Formats: sequence, structure tokens, C-alpha cells
Amino acid sequence: MIEYINISKEYKNGVKAVANINLTIKKGDFVFVVGSSGAGKSTLIKLLLKEVEPTAGRILLNNEDITKAQNRKIPYIRRSLGVVFQDFRLLPNKTVFENVAFAMEIIGASTRQIKKQVPKVLEMVGLGNKMNSYPDQLSGGEHQRVAIARAIVNKPSVLIADEPTGNLDPDTAWEVMKVIKEINRRGTTVVMATHAKEIVNFMKRRVVALEDGRIVRDEEKGVYGYDA
Ligand code: ADP
Ligand code: ADP
Repeated sequence: MIEYINISKEYKNGVKAVANINLTIKKGDFVFVVGSSGAGKSTLIKLLLKEVEPTAGRILLNNEDITKAQNRKIPYIRRSLGVVFQDFRLLPNKTVFENVAFAMEIIGASTRQIKKQVPKVLEMVGLGNKMNSYPDQLSGGEHQRVAIARAIVNKPSVLIADEPTGNLDPDTAWEVMKVIKEINRRGTTVVMATHAKEIVNFMKRRVVALEDGRIVRDEEKGVYGYDA
């Protein structure tokens, strides 16, 4: 479903952020991407989102070579990828409902579809009772659960999370992980870059470790494997 084939990315300043990576992630997989700061985790994710172009290699997403895709196809590629960031990125003057609805409006969903789908997704992340709240009325964990609802509302095949618990205290981080785990259980592939050692060690999922842009470890039921 996601295949990185001989992928390299060298930035204009000469930094080789990703060096000849081969990585296959099957449908329904749950993959933690770990490694120290600067190891290439974000670049690997940005390549999939087509926020950066590879210097060499190909990436297949659901059997389609996205490295060859024309610009006009990029919105369709991104539609199959839900993304969550460390810093949530909610729209401050929209309610929880409106923040999630906005993702559906962008792809041209009807009001009827929006009214049906948004409460369903908010219910799933445990925020059915906060639909009319504004972001500044929410806790950190609630922020991130809105962001997750927004990422999955259009039913992407992959949920990409870049340090989703990085701004959260340990209890709240677990609350968010429970939601991500449930999304995966329902069939969505999850790719999560993280420094959350306890979470990785507890979950016993696939772990891909990067160092200097290379995969140094790829384990089925892996551990974090670093001290910090
Ligand atoms: P590109 O070089 O791929 O066009 P960007 O447009 O994202 O990259 O960034 C422009 C410039 O900003 C880069 O060439 C680099 O010098 C600098 N830069 C941005 N982010 C980083 C980073 N995380 N580490 C080092 N340099 C960076
Ligand atoms: P991580 O997410 O693991 O911290 P990154 O993919 O952000 O790693 O960075 C990998 C390497 O590429 C680092 O050396 C970083 O400074 C560099 N880098 C990231 N973005 C840019 C950029 N836009 N321009 C130049 N160098 C960059």
C-alpha cells in the first residue's frame, strides 16, 4: 500500500535527509518511525505528502507512483492521507464541529453528508459532547482528538501522525493513543513518527528506526531502543 523504493532526498543545502530507503507498509499496518532529531523522520513523511520531492527513487501509494503525479493530482493523493501534527493546527475561530466539517467542505461534501459524518467521527474520538466548543475551551488532549477527527473524517486509507503526543502530558498522550489504536483496529493504516519511548515499548507494534536518513532497524514487534 505504501512503498518507498530506493528513495533519497538531498536538500538544496547538501543535507542528505533520506538516503536510499526501501520500505513497504502494508494496508492496516501500524508503524512507529523512531530516531533522534534530524534522523529523517519528517522528511520521510513529507515525501509521502508530496511536500518535498525526492532526489531519487519512487513512492507507490495504493499501487500508484505518486512521484510521477502531476500537480493537479496532488489533492487526490492527499485525500487518501489523513495527517496529524504535534501542534494540532485547529482553526481558532471555528467550533469543534466546524473544524472537522471544514475538511469535508474542501472536498465538496454536501451539507447532508457533513451533518451525518461529523458527529459520527466526533463521537468516535470521544468528543460528541464538545461539538459546539471553541478550541480555546479544550484541553490539549481534546485539541489533538479534534485534529484526529478532522484527519479521518474523509476516510483516508492512511493516518500519518508526526509526533502527535509531543505536546501532551503522559496521561493525555495515552488518551490520544487509544483513539489512534482504535482507528487502526478499524482498518486504517497508521504511520506515526514519535519520541514517546513508553508508548512505543508498550504497544509492541512495528518499529522502523532511522539514523542519518537510513533504516537501521525494522522490527515486527519492536521497541523504542534509544535512551531519550
Ligand atoms: P528546499 O531546499 O527543499 O527548497 P525549503 O524550501 O523547505 O527546502 O527550505 C528552504 C531553505 O531553508 C533550505 O534550503 C534550508 O537552507 C533551510 N531550512 C529549512 N528547514 C530546515 C531544517 N529543518 N534544517 C536545516 N535547514 C532548513
Ligand atoms: P527528523 O524529523 O527525524 O527530526 P528531518 O527529516 O526533519 O528529521 O531532518 C533530516 C535532516 O534534514 C536534518 O539534518 C535537517 O536539518 C535537514 N532538513 C530538514 N528539512 C530541511 C530543509 N527544508 N532544508 C534543508 N535541510 C533540511
